[in-house]
Amino acid sequence: MRITDIMKERMTFSFEVFPPKEHQPMEPLLETLDHLYGFRPDFISCTYGAGGTNAGRNREICKAIKDSGETIPVTHYTCIGNTKEKIRDDLQAYLDAGINHILALRGDFPKGWKETRGDFDHANELVEFIKTNFPEFCVSIAGNPEKHIQARTLEEDITHLRVKQDAGGDYIVTQLCYDLDNYKRWVEKIRKAGVTLPIVVGVMPVLAKDPTIRMTVTNGCSIPRELAEIIGRYGESPEDFKKAGKEYTVKLIYEYMNTGINGLHIYTLNKWEDVTDILMDAGIRNVKETALGPAVL
Ligand code: FAD
Repeated sequence: MRITDIMKERMTFSFEVFPPKEHQPMEPLLETLDHLYGFRPDFISCTYGAGGTNAGRNREICKAIKDSGETIPVTHYTCIGNTKEKIRDDLQAYLDAGINHILALRGDFPKGWKETRGDFDHANELVEFIKTNFPEFCVSIAGNPEKHIQARTLEEDITHLRVKQDAGGDYIVTQLCYDLDNYKRWVEKIRKAGVTLPIVVGVMPVLAKDPTIRMTVTNGCSIPRELAEIIGRYGESPEDFKKAGKEYTVKLIYEYMNTGINGLHIYTLNKWEDVTDILMDAGIRNVKETALGPAVL
């Protein structure tokens, strides 16, 4: 089953996790995954570290998800430091492990880097390479509703998104975006620019002040007034902040679902307890028991 086939029928529901660092044990993440499976997600994606530092562990996690038989694993993969030869080997290794869904990214530059130092400069080249050499893969691409931080204008960024679609991207997964109006304007603009792919919306739970500010600033994303008030009011009280942040996240999920999206993707930050609280409050018990809405293609 391909994720894009599910999207033809209804909205998908999914999670993102990240692998532990080299020297850290795998068990906590495997336990987290066991809890996340309880929601019967359509897929779980696993990040790929900058410069491929945790690449082996990324494959290990994707394989564990595959072997669990619980859901579809989606690996993230980047151009950072990767030659065509290495990419070819890695893609074959994913396929050999039964992993045939991939989020094709350029990747964030490690500190001090100004380019990918690999054979591809941009994600569209990676998408094209995958589709040409390994057509078995279902390929997702990143979308930035508030513009990628390095792009000069939103229009320029949308042109590049269109190029990624034309290279063979199958669906879009969005960067965090707390401003629904900006999201809606972006959807209108990309549709006008001929980007027709389904959109899976990534939701970053609001759980702690500093990471929330850091992630929005790093990605050049807006902090809407309501979120700014939570930061201002509860910034010095982690417990109160988390409570208000979870309520904010639940509301955000409702609002996104009401705009008609093709998928809801929760960036879990590997925090299954907090994610469980949020999903329970949002009335999402599992995919089968939740009215996830019709396809909006
Ligand atoms: P691109 O699409 O290549 O875009 C990067 C910039 O270049 C943009 O400004 C774009 O406008 C411009 N551009 C694109 N194509 C061209 C072109 N052909 N010519 C000129 N300019 C162009 N990073 C990781 O390292 N590991 C992860 O696991 C990871 N997971 C992510 C998951 C999601 C859902 C998202 C949204 C992002 C993730 N990232 C991850 C971050 C991502 O790698 C960064 O946002 C990165 O800076 C850009 O990646 P991209 O694939 O969007 O790049």
